[in-house]
Amino acid sequence: MADVRKSVPENAAGEFFVDSTCIDCDTCRQLAPAVFAQAAQYSYVRAQPQSGADVRAAARALLACPVGSIGTRNRADVKSVMADFPIQIEGPVYYCGFAAPGSYGASSYFIRHPAGNWLVDSPRTVSHLLRHFEQMGAIRYIFLTHRDDVAQAAEFAHRFGARRIIHRRDLDAQPGAEIVIDGDAPVRIAPEFKVIPTPGHSPGHCVLLFRDRYLFTGDHVWWRADERRLGASRWACWDSWEDQIASMRRLVEERFEWVLPGHGGRIWLAESEMRREVASLARRMRA
Ligand code: SF4
Repeated sequence: MADVRKSVPENAAGEFFVDSTCIDCDTCRQLAPAVFAQAAQYSYVRAQPQSGADVRAAARALLACPVGSIGTRNRADVKSVMADFPIQIEGPVYYCGFAAPGSYGASSYFIRHPAGNWLVDSPRTVSHLLRHFEQMGAIRYIFLTHRDDVAQAAEFAHRFGARRIIHRRDLDAQPGAEIVIDGDAPVRIAPEFKVIPTPGHSPGHCVLLFRDRYLFTGDHVWWRADERRLGASRWACWDSWEDQIASMRRLVEERFEWVLPGHGGRIWLAESEMRREVASLARRMRA
């Protein structure tokens, strides 16, 4: 629970605050950009929410924060907002919220599918989410983009009898995974789901392409709202920048319209524009 005595100095006066335990995971800034902003290496309340929509967004951020760094001075009711999660992004794709500290607050996603639902990376195993996933038809597959974002995947797998998917080169982070991807060639796990190895950030990093529309990208690529273009980070590349560039170049061959990352912004672009963006990013990474 956030401690008002540790409130960071940049917070705008008012109900919501961020305390000094923030790990700068970006979740709150994605969920409520009008309320939260980034200071040096943490978030703060840039402006107290005024509209009902912004209050709701701030409450969602409070619940999603992986380390409980967001608080309210007068204990505003945020519990009613819990029912918003998982939040529908588009069609069968949902953002789970309840980011896990074990994945450094990475975003995780839920895909509703008639042949069995998918979880992409792992949120916290809060009872609210478990109940909702149950009501939405449980989970058949858990796709793990890479070693850093496995969080509580094993608990979800145990609870729902789900099959975890991870690349062999990151298997030591989830040794009990039921489906192991080998090599660098794309693998179709089910008719509408293709796993594409994208080594670089980690040796076994993979992305998941669903319906040639939704690309779940882990820490390989994300949208930079400040620059209005796709981005990738050499600073946060833990294994091989050369491999990550090559992985980005291979993505130019794929068709998709959504980028749904672990960290950073989500974005929809028309397919042709997305292809240009990916090619442009690959060129910039090389440069
Ligand atoms: S969600 Fe929490 S940990 Fe993440 S940036 Fe916001 S306040 Fe910090």
